[in-house]
Amino acid sequence: MRLKPSRRQLLGLLPERLVLVRGPREPGALYLTFDDGPHPEHTPRLLDLLARHAARASFFLVGQRVERHPALVERIVAEGHALGNHSYSHPMFHRLGLRQQLEEVERTDRLLADFDGVGRYRFRPPRGSVSPSLLLAFARRGRGIAYWSYDSLDYQSRPPEELAARLARRPPADGDIVLMHDDSGCSAQILERMLPAWRATGRQLKALPAVRA
Ligand SMILES: [Zn+2]
Repeated sequence: MRLKPSRRQLLGLLPERLVLVRGPREPGALYLTFDDGPHPEHTPRLLDLLARHAARASFFLVGQRVERHPALVERIVAEGHALGNHSYSHPMFHRLGLRQQLEEVERTDRLLADFDGVGRYRFRPPRGSVSPSLLLAFARRGRGIAYWSYDSLDYQSRPPEELAARLARRPPADGDIVLMHDDSGCSAQILERMLPAWRATGRQLKALPAVRA
């Protein structure tokens, strides 16, 4: 038994408007999220795979990479996925002052708005690092953080078949937000196995709902 609560459990105590840890718990709903893109090789492959299975997802993009690969962001939006903010340069947030943290977030908001016109995005902090001062600043601004409730571990250099087997053995629950990454091919290799299985059992792969103004 774990006695010390995890960061995710603590963040889950906050209002959903401030920190979203799980999505709407509609029957069968699953919210795939991809961090660290767009990537010129791995993101197109992933988009092809999602399209083949009529799956929608949310992409938490790094501003610098958005500037480098705008056509990929256009494609993400055109294919019905949602954009999220994963900072401008993916720094270690705990080493930055609050003002620099907010600049990282706001600069990326402006970049993303050019693609879908939304202008306000949930923020997923690099490495999940959330300071109390950032939470307070977000609360004051009416902004939201998107955390996750299921970690695919696709960044751990473990074989994709092992990670897919883990997902099958311990399946996500309805409404779970699944953490994945599209800066490597691992997530696509996991999903090549899991998407057919999930669809066969009536799972709905969805983008996170838009932020309310
Ligand atoms: Zn990241």
